[in-house]
Amino acid sequence: MKARFHPLLPAAVGAAALVFAGLGWLLSGLRWPAPQLSSDRLLEMLQANPTPSRPATPAPRPPEAPAWQSPMAALCPAVDGDLVERMAGLRLNQRSIRTDPTNYGERFERDAFGNRLDPTPRVVVLHETVYGIESAIATFLTPHPRDEDQVSYHSLVGLDGQVVQVLDPSRRAFGAGNSAFQGKWAITNPKVGGSINNFALHLSLETPLDGEHDGPRHSGYSAAQYDALALVLADWMRAYDIPWENVTTHRHVDLGGERADPRSFDWSALKTRLIALGLAPAC
Ligand SMILES: [Zn+2]
Repeated sequence: MKARFHPLLPAAVGAAALVFAGLGWLLSGLRWPAPQLSSDRLLEMLQANPTPSRPATPAPRPPEAPAWQSPMAALCPAVDGDLVERMAGLRLNQRSIRTDPTNYGERFERDAFGNRLDPTPRVVVLHETVYGIESAIATFLTPHPRDEDQVSYHSLVGLDGQVVQVLDPSRRAFGAGNSAFQGKWAITNPKVGGSINNFALHLSLETPLDGEHDGPRHSGYSAAQYDALALVLADWMRAYDIPWENVTTHRHVDLGGERADPRSFDWSALKTRLIALGLAPAC
């Protein structure tokens, strides 16, 4: 998909580009992935579990995958008193939008096989928007009747540091398809397979203009974005007792091997701020 914006285009063309960018965003690497289970496999699962509400049918486990080891563990950035003071003085610049209900769900207390689930958020997944933040917002406001088109995060962080709350953390965002974290997933919809969405918080960073492509890298995120990201993470980590090691990426949790986001992420920029906020240990 080669949809792009250009600031010098006339307004009408710009509006059309926005619509195409929105579509492109949906069709890009961030779209809800196609179901990973073949219809035969799905039929087999449903036949094996003719009464999904009956308890004590063990859910299939996720495939073996490398454990997550936070890149922040090996980083020892210097943190001075000025940064500590600056971070302590920052306040979230946040607004909320009315995300269409087709694009999210409630957290489940039981899986599709009747087993009890702990829906408490315990992992944060970072993403990027690929296209502009307004394109992402337009997507979340639009009803999507088809499962494969439904997508959402809990928060978006713009290049200018604005934070858009897409969903309250108590809701289940449709941020990752077939996915697992540290050998865990939840199967709440057998059509999609296992996913971390039931116990995840999803945050997406607005991609810089030179990143509107599916190449491996771009110029990275702004200092204002890292500031705002750290503040949102601070809220979530304190509210749900989530350790810094459980901040991961869509690339890591995706079991389809198709996701590369967030590209060009600077873990040192994040760790510096988390140390300054007292949320990660200084080395
Ligand atoms: Zn993603």
